[in-house]
Order: sequence, then C-alpha cells, then structure tokens
Amino acid sequence: MAPMTDYLIIGSGVAGIAAVDAIRSQDQRSRIILISNEREGFYSRPGLAYYLTGELVEADLKPFSKQIFDELRCRCVHAEVSAIVPSQRMIQLQDGGQIPYKRLLIATGAQAARMDIPGLDSKGVVKLDNIADVRLIRKLARRGKRAVVIGGGITALEIVEGLVANKVITHYFLRGKRYWSNVLDVTESRIVEHKLKEEGVKIHYQTSLERIFEKRGRITGVRTQAGQDIKCDLLAYAIGIRPRVDLARACGLEVDRGIIVNQHQQTSQPTIFAAGDVAQVYDPNTGNYVIDSLWGLAREQGWIAGLNMAGANQAYMRGTPFNVTRLANLTTTIVGTVGKGQDDDLHGIARGDSEVWRQLPDAIAVQSDFEVNHIRLILGDNTLLGSIIMGDQTLSQPLRELINNNVPITSIREKLLEPNAPLTDLIIDHWTHWKSSHAN
Ligand SMILES: Cc1cc2nc3c(=O)[nH]c(=O)nc-3n(C[C@H](O)[C@H](O)[C@H](O)COP(=O)(O)OP(=O)(O)OC[C@H]3O[C@@H](n4cnc5c(N)ncnc54)[C@H](O)[C@@H]3O)c2cc1C
Repeated sequence: MAPMTDYLIIGSGVAGIAAVDAIRSQDQRSRIILISNEREGFYSRPGLAYYLTGELVEADLKPFSKQIFDELRCRCVHAEVSAIVPSQRMIQLQDGGQIPYKRLLIATGAQAARMDIPGLDSKGVVKLDNIADVRLIRKLARRGKRAVVIGGGITALEIVEGLVANKVITHYFLRGKRYWSNVLDVTESRIVEHKLKEEGVKIHYQTSLERIFEKRGRITGVRTQAGQDIKCDLLAYAIGIRPRVDLARACGLEVDRGIIVNQHQQTSQPTIFAAGDVAQVYDPNTGNYVIDSLWGLAREQGWIAGLNMAGANQAYMRGTPFNVTRLANLTTTIVGTVGKGQDDDLHGIARGDSEVWRQLPDAIAVQSDFEVNHIRLILGDNTLLGSIIMGDQTLSQPLRELINNNVPITSIREKLLEPNAPLTDLIIDHWTHWKSSHAN
C-alpha cells in the first residue's frame, strides 16, 4: 500500500483543482494527491464546444501547466478509482493499487445520460463529455457527412453548431414543439431555431427516435417514431447529465440525484467531502438540495471543500446560478429563476444548466426586443428574480448584480410593466443608483 496521504482528491476537473488551491492556501506542508482517469488532467470543459467548432485548439483548453502543479506540490496520478473504503480511510484503484487518506474529496463530475435504445454502442454514436469525445466527433465530422442530433439544452446545441462548423449536414430532433422549453420562452426558442435554420440545420419538431440502423457495427441511419428513415453517419445525443455517484453509493454515503453534502461540502461521512457536478448542495433560498452543472459554482464548491478539508470552518454561500454562453451564435446570459416545468428533450439538467433556473414562483415576465437582441426580466413583488439577455450584453452585469443582491425594485416596478418600457435605461439607471448608494 502507498504511504498515507493527507488529502486525496478524485477528479481533476475545476472542483478538484480549486480544492488543491484552497488546501495549499491553508496548509503548505501536507501531501496532496489528485487522481484522474483522464490523461489530459485539468482543462476547460466549457471550452470543448469551441474546440469542436475549430475556434480553439486543444492547447487553448489547458490553463494549468505542469509547473503550476509542481509549485502547488500536488502529485497527479492517472488512474481509475474503483472503490472507497471509508472504514479503512482508503481508496482502491482499478489496477489493484490502494491509497490511504486522512481527508477525501469526491469531485468526479457528471456524465451524459444514456439513451435507452439498442444500437447505442455502434460506431458513430457520440456524446460530448470530454476531450476524447471532441477528438472523436472531429474525426467523424467531415464535409458532406450526415448527422442526427438528439437532446435539449446547451450541449445538444453546441454539438449541432460544431457539426455545422465542420460542414456536416445536420438534422436536429426535438421531442417537443420548441427548443429548451423549460428555460427559454417561446420568443427565445424561436430566435435560436431561426438562427439554426439560417445555418442550414434541419429541425424536426415533435420527433423522437424509434431505432438505430447499423451495418457491421457502424451506424447507417435512424428511424423516427413517425416512421421516417434518415440516413446518417453520426448520431449525437445530449439528453441531460447524470452525476457520477457510483463510488459514493457503493460505500454507503447518502446519495439522492447527486451526493448529498452539507454547507461545508461534507458528505454523510465527515472525512469525505464532495464538490462540483457530482454534489447535491443545500439551497438556503428554497431549503432544497439542488444540482448545478456550472463551472463557476463547481469551482466555488471545490474551494470551500478544500478549505474545510484543511481545517477551516467555511460555509458554501450558494450564489445565484449564472451562465454566459452562446446559443446559436448569440451570446446569452441566464441568471436566477427563469423557467419552469419539464422539457421533453431533457432528463434532469444539461451541462451549463441549473435546477434552480426552473423554480419559478408566481411572477410577471416583461420583455423587450430590438433587432436580434432580446431581454426578459422576471419580476417578483419587490425584487428581480431572474433574467435572460440574448445578443447585446450591456445589461448582463447590472442584472446579475441586482438579482444576486436582491436589490429592491419597487421604485421602478410599475415603469417596467408599462407597454414598450425602456427596459435598458430603467435597469441601467436603477443599477447605477444602487451602486453609488452602495459605495457610500
Ligand atoms: C460541452 C460542455 C459545455 C459546458 N458548458 C458550460 C457553460 O457554458 N457554462 C458553465 O458554467 N458550465 C458548462 N459546462 C459544465 C462545466 O464544465 C462543469 O460544471 C464543470 O466542469 C464541473 O466540474 P467538476 O470538477 O465537478 O467535474 P468534471 O469537470 O466533470 O471533472 C471530473 C473528473 O473526474 C474524473 N473521474 C470521474 N470518475 C473517476 C474515477 N472513478 N476515477 C478517476 N477519475 C474520475 C472525470 O473523468 C473527470 O476528469 C459544460 C460542460 C461541457 C462538457
């Protein structure tokens, strides 16, 4: 057995890396081991979409060099963890090795939920979780090839965009009547769909997959439930994510959809912590335990977990879930609660998504459209609850701050509700006024 390590971290994603940083901010001497089954170690997962379109090269995704890990005195191990044995404070590796620990962090992230259909393991069927997936899609995606994409949310759209950028003829199947219906409203869905159609994407509404055709193990086409056959060389699915909870469940930790953690990111075993996409965290606003798949929140959770592993006593203060992303080439900010209900295209949440975005109480939405730009505000009685900003991002930061800080909007609420209200001016003035009074 390897010598005892003080801090053992499973997963070299952003949560794991933030934990290493946090531990070193408290403890310069102890041993840290970071284990990952991905040979590439740490890289920008949201950046994968841009690697797929060809806007970034692989090297652009890797913000941490070996030198930084050396400076942090963190030993990186490439291995698959196969079991955790809490009673012996030890983990087992698939290659038979064992590593004892004093404090353990599970930061194993999430993976694409699988579709329940025969033929899913055929060559040419792909998902988008990691760098290896992008390499594979890029290899298969050549001018004139044909693809079918299934799913909702950001990842399915990113795959569609990546395929289009690689000149692939792309069919996009939506089970529902519009794109991402439990986060976007009808106008926003139509903006995205319109842009996709302009790029040549063939959108099939209310369409689901009946079967996969394959020849000698390679996909050749699909049949829809309506009986239409479509030839394709590639089938991509992004129907939601599943936190990687198997290790935690097998060793008896409390697991629901993710690993349940308290506000110190501690699991039901006090020496074991969890953070990032795998963790289900307490949301003080609702009293529920929720799952996010957001880079920024994974980093915050990893940081808090690391501090507490090293003996600090720091609670995770969950901020308003927030994402700035690109939907069909339109920069889009999503912040706070903006939608509700189920989406036929998604099981749970997608990448870059949050369960909290769906917790919409009774509220009024106001919106404004000008050219390709679109703003939607969700008004509570006294505060803004959420917002979507597509295109021009002037309001992105002001709205994020107003929502995150629960700034009262009573003085402008009536004006916001007037027909054709100048939303941008009202919000900027209100934010500027709040900032200046806040500064004093
Ligand atoms: C295509 C894509 C687009 C995204 N877009 C956005 C976006 O626009 N905005 C946003 O905020 N977020 C986005 N995300 C989500 C964001 O990347 C995640 O929230 C974040 O990476 C989660 O970090 P993590 O450290 O929890 O897990 P991960 O980054 O998933 O890292 C977990 C690591 O643990 C490894 N691992 C798992 N099990 C084991 C094991 N048994 N042994 C060893 N290693 C193991 C995994 O292979 C992986 O390397 C996107 C993600 C993807 C894939």
